[in-house]
Amino acid sequence: MSADCLFCKIVRREIPAKLVHESDDCVAFRDIDPKAPVHVLVIPREHVSSLNEARDASMVGRLALVAAEIARKEGIADAGYRTVINTNRDAGQTVFHIHLHLLGGRSLSWPPG
Ligand code: 5GP
Ligand code: ZN
Repeated sequence: MSADCLFCKIVRREIPAKLVHESDDCVAFRDIDPKAPVHVLVIPREHVSSLNEARDASMVGRLALVAAEIARKEGIADAGYRTVINTNRDAGQTVFHIHLHLLGGRSLSWPPG
């Protein structure tokens, strides 16, 4: 855990978030500034700064499977959705606790900006 990390604080319930999923290893909550009707962030409880620092394949895989489970619960699985992990400057990563964005509920353009 990292004392100053925003998402570690959400894991520890020190700051509020609209949680949509909690399990032993992952937490998911609604993005504070949603870019689509469904915009959920899936994170590991463990502090890992970015995909560059990730070493645990099962943790990275869990993020994707939790996102798929939430997509089903939110009713967007059949229509479709996007999962994104932004890493470092060129991708615009702003919070350095690895997180997978689940975006859906509307048609998403491609390629992203
Ligand atoms: P990144 O740009 O690092 O891939 O994504 C960080 C995301 O975290 C952004 O979409 C941003 O809106 C979201 N975010 C930043 N601060 C908070 C917060 O305090 N609560 C929640 N729920 N989301 C946040
Ligand atoms: Zn953290």
